[in-house]
Amino acid sequence: MNLHRDTIFALSSGRPPAAIAVVRISGPRARFGLETIAGTVPEPRKARLVRVRDPKAAEDIDEALALWFPGPKSETGEDVAELQLHGGRAVVASVLAALGKLEGFRLAEPGEFTRRAFENGRLDLTAVEGLADLISAETEAQRRQAFRQLKGLLGDRAEAWRARLIQALALVEAHIDFPDEADLPEDLVAPALKIARDLHEEIMEALAGADRGERLREGLVVAIAGPPNAGKSTLLNRIARREAAIVSAIPGTTRDVIEVHLDLDGYPVTLLDTAGIRESEDPIEQEGVKRARARAAEADLVLWVVEPGVKVSIEYPAGRGPGPEIWLIQNKADLSRPMTSIINKSESENQFKIIKSISAMTGQGMNELMNMLSTYAASFFEPEKGALITRTRHRRALQEAAETLDRALAKHVAGREEIIAEELRLAGRALGRLTGRVDVEDILDVIFSDFCIGK
Ligand code: GDP
Repeated sequence: MNLHRDTIFALSSGRPPAAIAVVRISGPRARFGLETIAGTVPEPRKARLVRVRDPKAAEDIDEALALWFPGPKSETGEDVAELQLHGGRAVVASVLAALGKLEGFRLAEPGEFTRRAFENGRLDLTAVEGLADLISAETEAQRRQAFRQLKGLLGDRAEAWRARLIQALALVEAHIDFPDEADLPEDLVAPALKIARDLHEEIMEALAGADRGERLREGLVVAIAGPPNAGKSTLLNRIARREAAIVSAIPGTTRDVIEVHLDLDGYPVTLLDTAGIRESEDPIEQEGVKRARARAAEADLVLWVVEPGVKVSIEYPAGRGPGPEIWLIQNKADLSRPMTSIINKSESENQFKIIKSISAMTGQGMNELMNMLSTYAASFFEPEKGALITRTRHRRALQEAAETLDRALAKHVAGREEIIAEELRLAGRALGRLTGRVDVEDILDVIFSDFCIGK
């Protein structure tokens, strides 16, 4: 343990007032801190009732449960103390102030506890990301994925891959260093290439499932689009069961993109209400239309809302991919007007799936629509087991590993062991970056700043 390091402390539970507030202390002087403000150090990992006081003020602040986790087998790998206080604002403020007066103590920065855990080898980088995701998980499916990531789903896999790469590299290097050694097996390179081929295949397989994992983090994006006044805002409100968008009878009042986050049977769904996508003279409205088009182009599914009896043309902006699936929703079924005729003017090769008749106002046909959405979300996110990769960072590192392996296996480098060795080394580095084993300084700040103070 680095004795010159600051001892850090923070409120680790939610914002007071609350029934209980948890204050954590980590660092070389954690024991001293506990002795000073709680008067005692409990047995490791056993809760004990203590009186908490400010030594400078010689006054009891609160009665609390104290816990003591000696390093290195603690959350951060350092000595850690925890106080479970009554969660009042003044109690917490007073305890934090008392700790702040101790020499070598300072308030933790966001994510600093987790950063120390990473630096002390308690968590690898993918687990750190899993932890961040677990804290922000809003639905069951997200929680499940984040928890698996925290428990090493990708990290352990990457480390195992790296170990095999090192083994392959050792074989190639042995061949380079001792080409004529009598007691070495005839061919060392062939088994090394076999390892590289297997790894390449496994990494490609993981990459194939990448989309799903990243999507699960971000949610299924459903855009509600269609001409002004068709009832898009009313539909959004009905789906979200709350007043998130302005419902108005005047066309073009939904000027910006309104987003509503939903939990649909455990799956995260983001609903977008796009402003009535249509040409307009009004500059503010034009801006809204522009934003709506850009955001809508990234949607996974579009609910295109139309009014019965009105001739409509569907003009859906093309995104990067093949274009989202479009469900045609005929709203205002309560008006009993004739069906709508449609002209497809979509820029991309969108498929219209369903013509569905509903009334956003009366709720008619809504249950069926919601069931269809749930089924769609479930099939969109399944199979979850493919979700090894949850971030662009993971995908990039694995792509790099796969590409370098590909180069090591290329025909034109056959027999050029120096080059093969170098490519294997690069592939190993890409995997090392994934778990944070090698040169990751630059990305650490980005990852840890995602956390709140006290984590
Ligand atoms: P948007 O411009 O597409 O967002 O449309 P709004 O949601 O603002 O609705 C436009 C008008 O249509 C409002 O007066 C709504 O009350 C009305 N409206 C919406 N849905 C229905 C429906 O199912 N039936 C009837 N009769 N009116 C509706």
